[in-house]
Amino acid sequence: MENCRVRFAPSPTGALHIGGVRTALYNYLLAKKLGGTFILRIEDTDQTRYVPGAEDYILEALSWLDIRLDEGPGVGGDYGPYRQSERESMYKEYAIKLVENGHAYYAFDTPEELDERRNAEKAKGNHNFKYDHSVRKEMRNSLTIDADEVKRMLEYGTPYTIRLMVPTDETVAFNDIIRSDVKFSSNELDDKVMLKADGMPTYHLANVVDDYLMKITHVIRGEEWLPSTAHHVLLYKFLGWEDAMPQFAHLPLILKPTGNGKLSKRDGAKLGIPVFPLSWDSEKEEDSFKGFREFGFLPEAVLNFLAFLGWNPGTEEEFFRLDDLIQAFDLNKVSKGGARFDFDKAKWFNQQYIINSDTNTLLGLVRPLADAKQIDCTDEYLSKCIDLMKERVQFLPDFLEVGYYLFEKVRNYEEKPIRKKWKPEQRPMFEELLEDLLSLENFESASIETSIKTFMAKYELGFGNVLPFLRIGMAGTMKGPGVFEMMELLGKDEVKERMTTAYTAFDGIKAG
Ligand code: GLU
Repeated sequence: MENCRVRFAPSPTGALHIGGVRTALYNYLLAKKLGGTFILRIEDTDQTRYVPGAEDYILEALSWLDIRLDEGPGVGGDYGPYRQSERESMYKEYAIKLVENGHAYYAFDTPEELDERRNAEKAKGNHNFKYDHSVRKEMRNSLTIDADEVKRMLEYGTPYTIRLMVPTDETVAFNDIIRSDVKFSSNELDDKVMLKADGMPTYHLANVVDDYLMKITHVIRGEEWLPSTAHHVLLYKFLGWEDAMPQFAHLPLILKPTGNGKLSKRDGAKLGIPVFPLSWDSEKEEDSFKGFREFGFLPEAVLNFLAFLGWNPGTEEEFFRLDDLIQAFDLNKVSKGGARFDFDKAKWFNQQYIINSDTNTLLGLVRPLADAKQIDCTDEYLSKCIDLMKERVQFLPDFLEVGYYLFEKVRNYEEKPIRKKWKPEQRPMFEELLEDLLSLENFESASIETSIKTFMAKYELGFGNVLPFLRIGMAGTMKGPGVFEMMELLGKDEVKERMTTAYTAFDGIKAG
């Protein structure tokens, strides 16, 4: 399609949840696939929910993931401004137009009166009071108050809201790319406020007006907005914009890793997993979160993982970088059913992306972490550590944590293999091995290996009777990287010191 224009329209009310990032991603993918335009629109008309820093967070998260804006705050474009608070003056005329066309009305009920009514309904057992077709004739509005009086009230400055007059006994139907035909009975829909008493539009009015003015062709958003769409469809009709109505696509919910229900920000804290792209610091501990980035995820892995939360290409292929996703993405392949947030899968993706990243890229990411930990080593050394550890880490900080022994002395030794296999009477033999190694001219993994093999042949020992001691002596664990490579990296002096200390420690473990 030519001129595909999509928007990501978050409200800056706090850290952007990972579900919001997925919405942004799907919008972006569709735009790029169709050669269209990806727009960021900040929906900040509700100033009571505005949180400072939230807009910057959104921008930083998108930029970390390389989701680039074609139009938006800071970038500009022909349809700006892109912050609704800066478009404030544009909305009222449309609300008035609705009233003039007989599709909306002035409502003068005060918040106190509405509360009173709500409470009275509650007392009668109705806990879900709705201002709708069934009650609008009982309320204080321009449908019940005489026209002259309404005029006087408006001139006098009586506070009012403008409410949409939802028709009675109609079916509001629309097509959703993911859910096909969606229908609502108009009688279920309330007379939503379009313009608030402070003159600001509600989400519904501002959203539809902006989608129209910004020439949006596809509205891709979370499933929770499906019921609102019925109101939006009515708005397109009542404003005479039916021909410009965008196509809708409502994305499936993201479900908790286990059990029922939607993934919430509290799940992250509870399960110790990230549910936000970046960390978010708040004065309140319970409102601070650690992000995917700070966990040590690569942005490519997060993109790949997120793309698969509700979509798959219909093939076995699992690895998709951003450009591949653009090629393969298809809104018709997005599922209706909720997508489970499988954190193990996210980790697996990250591991694969780390393995497939080149050393220099990883160096660029690990260096700042090493500096923050005041690890003193050259880039050359760090690059070699990265090469050795690449297949053994899940997150970026693991290079320094799992592989800590490449930067400092072994903190403790895995004892089981020592207790099982170490024979103190063989210590002179192992000291001889160390002498052999230290006498090597070229302290490189190949010559180290040859020397060890010669030693094994001489004493008729198998790998299992030699390598575990060297491995544990060097790294404290059996799980470390290849022992010959590790020795080469650590260098003669360090190997000498580590093995001497280890032999004594092994004797101790055996004795104790
Ligand atoms: N401002 C809404 C939100 O916070 C936008 C929903 C939509 O895309 O229409 O998600």
